[in-house]
Amino acid sequence: MHYDQEKGSVFEALGSSEAGLSFEEAEKRLLEFGNNELEEEEQISVMKLFLVQFKSILILILIAAALVSAVLGELVDAVVIMFTVFLAGVLGFFQEYRAEKAIELLKSLTAPEALVIRDGHDQKIPSRTLVPGDLILLQAGDRIPADARLVEAFNLRVDEAALTGESLPVLKNTGALPLETPEVDRTNMVYTGTAVTYGRGKALVTATGMSTAFGSLAKLLGTIERSRTPLQESLDRFGRWIGAATLVVVSFVAVLGILSGFPLFDMFLWGVALAVAAIPEALPAVVAVGLGLGVRRMVKRNALVRKLPSVETLGATNVICSDKTGTLTQNKMTVERVYVNGQKLKVTGSGYEPSGEFFGGGGSAPVSGDEPHLRRLLLAGALCNDADLVKNEGSWEIKGDPTEAALVVAAAKVGLRKGELEKKYPRVEEIPFSSESKRMTTLNSTPNSVSNFTSDSVSRSTPYLTSNSVSNSVSTSTSIPNSNEATSISSDSSSGAGESGRLVAYSKGAPEVILDSCTKTFFEGVERPLTPELRQEILDIVGDMGDQALRVIAVAYRGLEEEIPLEEVESEMVFVGLMGMRDPPREEAKAAIRTCASAGIKTVMITGDHKVTASAVARELGIFSEGDLALTGTELDRIEDNEFEDMVEQVLVYARVYPTHKLRVVEAFKKKGYVVAMTGDGVNDAPALKAADMGIAMGITGTDVSKEAASMILTDDNFASIVSAVEEGRNIFKNIKNFITYGLTTHLGEVLIVLAAVLGWQILPLIAVQILWINLITDGLPPMALSVEPPDRGLMRQKPRNVEEGLITRREITAGVGIGVLIAVQALLVLIWALESGFSLEKLQTLIFTLLVLSEMFNAFNWRSDRYSVFALGLFTNKPLIYAIGITLILQLLVIYTPVLQTAFRTVPLSLAEWGVILPLASTTLISMELMKFLRSRRYK
Ligand code: ADP
Ligand code: MG
Repeated sequence: MHYDQEKGSVFEALGSSEAGLSFEEAEKRLLEFGNNELEEEEQISVMKLFLVQFKSILILILIAAALVSAVLGELVDAVVIMFTVFLAGVLGFFQEYRAEKAIELLKSLTAPEALVIRDGHDQKIPSRTLVPGDLILLQAGDRIPADARLVEAFNLRVDEAALTGESLPVLKNTGALPLETPEVDRTNMVYTGTAVTYGRGKALVTATGMSTAFGSLAKLLGTIERSRTPLQESLDRFGRWIGAATLVVVSFVAVLGILSGFPLFDMFLWGVALAVAAIPEALPAVVAVGLGLGVRRMVKRNALVRKLPSVETLGATNVICSDKTGTLTQNKMTVERVYVNGQKLKVTGSGYEPSGEFFGGGGSAPVSGDEPHLRRLLLAGALCNDADLVKNEGSWEIKGDPTEAALVVAAAKVGLRKGELEKKYPRVEEIPFSSESKRMTTLNSTPNSVSNFTSDSVSRSTPYLTSNSVSNSVSTSTSIPNSNEATSISSDSSSGAGESGRLVAYSKGAPEVILDSCTKTFFEGVERPLTPELRQEILDIVGDMGDQALRVIAVAYRGLEEEIPLEEVESEMVFVGLMGMRDPPREEAKAAIRTCASAGIKTVMITGDHKVTASAVARELGIFSEGDLALTGTELDRIEDNEFEDMVEQVLVYARVYPTHKLRVVEAFKKKGYVVAMTGDGVNDAPALKAADMGIAMGITGTDVSKEAASMILTDDNFASIVSAVEEGRNIFKNIKNFITYGLTTHLGEVLIVLAAVLGWQILPLIAVQILWINLITDGLPPMALSVEPPDRGLMRQKPRNVEEGLITRREITAGVGIGVLIAVQALLVLIWALESGFSLEKLQTLIFTLLVLSEMFNAFNWRSDRYSVFALGLFTNKPLIYAIGITLILQLLVIYTPVLQTAFRTVPLSLAEWGVILPLASTTLISMELMKFLRSRRYK
């Protein structure tokens, strides 16, 4: 086994090396070991999806009725019924198939990735392609992609609750363990499905896929939650209610028909057909399709939905709490100001190009790159740093955190190359950056002293220096232990013997935090006590930089001469200076914030950055204006919950917050009845993301853990994409509402005319197959077309939907019932006209049949929007609808003009004059709705 071997022999045992596997080798192993995947989720087969379409009781009764017809010799009826049932099934199938494809696309887009070293380079690959022997890199927030043996661990803590139930993260290390160590206690192993909460590590994959220790654990990322939405639930209830009512009415009429002499079986068939037509049983499925298609459109706008029900919530969102860095800003940091040795310097150069100079206040000549204070500041910033600067095809690119990269670039401007520095001052220990500590510290050894220290001999709880090595290296000098170090780098001479073996701690982070651990400042070549006055002066400079919207990082160091525990390193440090970096706001975010304002959505900025910086950026973005409040995490901690609820609507900027504060903000807004969207990317953002109505994770910079907690992932980390998603969410809701109302109005019209004719005239205005045909048409193509209606211009100018209010509001009811009744009246007029003119029953039925189909086509235009005229939207802007209507009309012509279908549907050909009557009559469906929209728009203006 791998846990009982020393780490050197693990490489051998797994046939790997520090450079990882080669790509060829990985490919070979992938064939041998198979994909790193857990048990496949059950695939919904095409056949099953098709059969599901026929599972409704009514459809089954209909099929039974067709069989009975066939037995009774009514072959034509039987065939027509089967045909319409089949066609409806095919239509339903295609819709759901499309929706299913959309979800599969989401799944593939959210599939987990792993960071591996192969052929000596680190790269992201799909976790599915990991093989035993792969060298993987782990950092806070990662979901561990395979079982692996650690070969490097810096403060690595892993949350193994998912498999052991232990809620406290486990500290990992790399030492060999006795063979008898039980699985859960193997601290040098990490297991699939657990998550890194802190620190960093490197590990060799020992098992993948189903051969991992806990292969049965659910796959987390890459699964899409499909639970039913509140809307679907309420539609189900609504459908059952209508269903019951319909059955009562239809059976009543059918019995009445039988009593007044209609044949028993005809009335049965007719009753079933009418019930099929009246009951909106397909609605929930149609809604699922609407959601599915909407979700696919959202993918194109950089938003991946992980929980389908949240699409609905999205449209009702009325406050978006967004991270600043990277979401509202570009996360392209450049150091512009430096404060060192009591001097304020400006830095020239732009982007990641490592060229530029440092200029002092009055002087025209740049400060020399050899200036020791500046050099020490830049050196510290570059060493206490995990980012990298690489030249790729002539352009400079960064790897890692942009904040850190900016420091690497600044150091490179005076010729301090991070790669070289790291070789010379190897890191032996580190305390990683976290949103809570807001600082990072590394311990680096000075030249010639590496051999005694490896990361493994050091751990957080044990003193990291052996007294032996210290005694060799203690400097007797009382001045700065490494005062010449920075300057000596440029000349590349190694440090003096007296300094070899010494460790220096470098720390960088939020100025208040760093200053709190400093007792001295490096000024004019010597370390002096950091007096309260000096401290204030530094804080004033921080404020100035913040006012200019700069993000400020303070840097300190400490030469270590004696044995102290790692926890104590971050004290008695020496302050060196400040670096202020610019992170320009995203232009599209500004526009999106304006859109939010007009759409009645509040935008709130949440950041770990300094209050002054945050407010300045918020002002640039247009979030913050006079009278709005900004709070820091510390201030928030002092406010009671109920007091906070009273003020939460005024606070637009939260600065210097911890992830736990986000949770409080979410809860306060929710208490106030808001529908809250909250962004997050770190490990500790997960609770807030889960608590929010819409948790939104970052696709690029987000951790696995945050993505799993979120309902939506932004593939471009961009605030503007949230707003697009909200618009799309509103649009989906609007479309669903519209095509449902469309379906209900047409069904209503149909049922009313049939009832009126049977009750008033003892006439069947439509026969069973005609009813089925109309049903097929109304439920078939037009709703598909309506579900892809694009957002209209008013969508983001309306207030957010009130979640309390259901899908169908008074507005829909009045319009829907009105149109439904109108359609019935049109048919009634035709009925009376046909009776007066003494037309045959076939002609009467054909006229009503065709009128209803026409009327429904006009009605389809109505429901492209519930407020705007179709002419304002552009008659031809919804192409699918034009095709849907075209196809329907052609089919209708075939039904009444081809002999075969005439027999099947009992129709007769219509004359031009008859068309001249029913066409204008049907068009009133459109005209009256247009009139209604016009009147309403005037009323609400
Ligand atoms: P946000 O992402 O909301 O802007 P962060 O939590 O990343 O905020 O950063 C908060 C503060 O921590 C920053 O203002 C900065 O002073 C400090 N900081 C940020 N990144 C680092 C880092 N990599 N190392 C040290 N300090 C950092
Ligand atoms: Mg950050």
